[in-house]
Amino acid sequence: MAAPRLSGRPDVVLLIVDCARAAGPGDGQPSAPSLVADSPSDFVQFPRAVTAATWSLPSHASIFTGLYPWNHGCHNLSALRLPPQVPTLATRLRAAGYATASFSSNSVLCPGTGLLQGFDYAAWGRWSENILRVGTTDPPHLRMRQNDLPPPPEKGPNFLAAGLASSLRHFPALGAGLSRLADRLGAGPGGRLPPVSSWIEPSVAGWLSSLPPDVPAFTAVNLMDLHEPYVPGDRHPGQGGPPPFFSWVPQDGRSYADRKERMAAEWVSELRALYSRQSAEAAHRVSALWHTLQRLRAGRPILFAVLSDHGQSLGEDGWYFHSHGQPRDELIRVPLAIHFPTRSMAEDARRHQQDWVSLVDLVPTIASVVGVDGFGPLDGTSLLGTPETTAERGVFSVGDGPIRRSSGRAARGAAGSELRAATCVSFVADTRVTVTGHEDGSIVLDRARVGSGSLPSYTSDGPLELATRQAASAVRSMLAAPAEPWSDEVSRRLTTWGYG
Ligand SMILES: [Zn+2]
Repeated sequence: MAAPRLSGRPDVVLLIVDCARAAGPGDGQPSAPSLVADSPSDFVQFPRAVTAATWSLPSHASIFTGLYPWNHGCHNLSALRLPPQVPTLATRLRAAGYATASFSSNSVLCPGTGLLQGFDYAAWGRWSENILRVGTTDPPHLRMRQNDLPPPPEKGPNFLAAGLASSLRHFPALGAGLSRLADRLGAGPGGRLPPVSSWIEPSVAGWLSSLPPDVPAFTAVNLMDLHEPYVPGDRHPGQGGPPPFFSWVPQDGRSYADRKERMAAEWVSELRALYSRQSAEAAHRVSALWHTLQRLRAGRPILFAVLSDHGQSLGEDGWYFHSHGQPRDELIRVPLAIHFPTRSMAEDARRHQQDWVSLVDLVPTIASVVGVDGFGPLDGTSLLGTPETTAERGVFSVGDGPIRRSSGRAARGAAGSELRAATCVSFVADTRVTVTGHEDGSIVLDRARVGSGSLPSYTSDGPLELATRQAASAVRSMLAAPAEPWSDEVSRRLTTWGYG
């Protein structure tokens, strides 16, 4: 393993582009633009990166802890909150002298979920900001220093705005009109719609400017530009092909997950065009944030990771968005690109570019770069390690639907009882193994080949057998999690997160 030789601890940035896919939608469609294509730097790309879960909350918990969902406990079949005793990247970096901040347009990064543990400073958005685009420099929610301010009440304007956004997912054309009106009434410049949560960039810049130059910074950012609902609007300068100015595509993920709503054929290409335009917008923002870091923290070494927490279904096999919770490839394969503080670290990491890697590898990688510890046993492994450490292990992803009733995760039986199921996908070599467990004890195993490589041998002690056994064990442990009835509080939160 390469020992870090740095003149001071590097800044660390996790830039999470919510819902970004590893590959573009559909056959014959151009690939989604690389999120770091506009950033003139030597990013190491990991084309076989896999997220640990299919929606924001368990996935962010895995990104921040280096643990799979069945080990950190923040998932759909257990509590929807990261337990406070689990060490996170922010808590460990803060203990090592880092200034820590989270700027998230996704409101699951709020005090109620435990994901803000260790952040000195946190700002988060409203779910309605995807639709109501207002050019503003101030975040709607702010918490400075640990526990200085209580979390804001979930009722009031935020709750109402979330409810409005939830309804507007059925009427995107109306949403676009309201968005223009809101922008005109607000501080926005008019014309082109402001990006989702336009307060992110000025807030990041303001915070970084306030830091003494010798204090290392850990900055986590979440951008929701690629999360539905997509508001039709003006064409991004870098994007070819006209996006629809008005869209009639209803974008309520839950309705499609339950298969209540059907997507008309002509809407699919429109939906993909909207997603594609948003990809260009996100790449533009990634580049701008990269340049802001370079300007405000000039001369400091930096680890800058660009990734997504999960992808998005855009009509593959009739699936849409990600509320369905199916561990499909367009959901669980994610972009991952990392700029390392030194050239030799980048060279070490490049040796893993053909391996399956997991977002749980981020914590051990950052820990080895920065030289912090205190995490306890981790599920991931450092991407600076020898190739043997990742070449033949399994990486796992859980199909964790955001709503317990969602199709495929748990369904209502004929007698009204709730059936529980859990699915875990593992990748090893060129094989994809899906293990689906049911509460009645049955387990369904499915093996499929990925890409054109040859199937690895399946021996009783081979890596494939090991990964399969681990996946089965994960499924059993998730099914064994106490099925706490969800409180009104959790149901209310799901609504404010747009999943209700
Ligand atoms: Zn997400």
